[in-house]
Amino acid sequence: MQPFFSQRFEKVEPSFIREILKVTTRPDIISFAGGLPNPNLFPVKAIEQACQQVLSEQGAATLQYATTEGYAPLRQYIAERYQTRWGMQVNPDHILITSGSQQALDLLGKVLIDEGQDLIIEEPGYLGAIQAFSVYQPKFRPITLGEEGLDLAALDALLESGTTARLLYGVPNFQNPSGVSYSRANRAALAERLIRHNLLMVEDDPYGELRFEGESIDPVAKLAPENTVLLGSFSKTVVPGFRLGWMVVPAWLHKKVTIAKQATDLHSNAFSQQVLHRFLTTHSLDAHLEKIKEVYGRQRAAMEVALARHCPPSVRWTRPEGGMFLWLTLPESVCAMELFQVAIEEKVAFVPGAPFYVRPDIKNTLRLSFSCVDEATIEEGVQRLARALRKML
Ligand code: PMP
Repeated sequence: MQPFFSQRFEKVEPSFIREILKVTTRPDIISFAGGLPNPNLFPVKAIEQACQQVLSEQGAATLQYATTEGYAPLRQYIAERYQTRWGMQVNPDHILITSGSQQALDLLGKVLIDEGQDLIIEEPGYLGAIQAFSVYQPKFRPITLGEEGLDLAALDALLESGTTARLLYGVPNFQNPSGVSYSRANRAALAERLIRHNLLMVEDDPYGELRFEGESIDPVAKLAPENTVLLGSFSKTVVPGFRLGWMVVPAWLHKKVTIAKQATDLHSNAFSQQVLHRFLTTHSLDAHLEKIKEVYGRQRAAMEVALARHCPPSVRWTRPEGGMFLWLTLPESVCAMELFQVAIEEKVAFVPGAPFYVRPDIKNTLRLSFSCVDEATIEEGVQRLARALRKML
């Protein structure tokens, strides 16, 4: 059936993580693999009430087709939150509601990427972004992500090399997969480069509200608003099943992405936008976030304690101050893909790091998610992981 497929889609790979998740749902396996938010923290009752209120008050109108840009009161809520939380002036007219921030990546790819064009991406990078952008066939130009953020020397070298890149993708808060955040200085330096080289950054920020430790750092978008598309999502703060996210776009880009959205799905689910808005205006999002951060913070701490207790000293890991992920670097002799097979025999799962690189040569890293596993299970799971690792050494 090969002749039927478009050239564009021929090289797009299935998501490795989704494949892995099939193995890790076995009940006897402790899984640090899934990147899912903890369902015990979903506000089920409140959402049920919000559904009923919206339906009984608005009736049929709530089930009608709606505007491409998204439910205006929800856009207003998001704009006001940027103002109160970050001191950012965001015009609600420049917010576009998307079907999760994953869709924003696709829409931006549609509007901004030409085949063969350089696209700068942090490495390791978010697999979903690599997958979404791959459809538009860019040439990925990875820049290493270190403890402080992007490797600026490598970025400068690339920018001065005559690259065709116009876009840079990154996750400055509690990055997926590494848990690393860009420092304040790194963000400032990056913003300066964006402006100087007339680059556009896709600043993907689904985890920024989940800081359980340390000081919040302003988004790059606050420093370079004309050179940034800021993506947000309700998936990790409220529920992922509604598939609701947004993008804040500079005025010059707004019309084009709105047309792309219209062509793709007309608009995001209008009922869930109204239910979500009702939830947000009848409950305190901050109080809800406190509960999530308390649980994730405790679980991150438990994971660190367990890693320090059970892992050989040759293993290193990041120390995220928020989000859901922690990143392990193994001795160079250990291949995380091979470790995965041994770990499954020990009944523990993780995501090997290789798929997060666009270069195939880094094999000794892996991602652990602490969002969905309680402290006692984390201790047991890390013990199993360390046992698997010792078998490989
Ligand atoms: N960006 C990043 C960095 C993510 O980790 C995720 C979720 N795993 C997404 C985007 C997509 O989130 P959603 O589409 O649910 O908003």
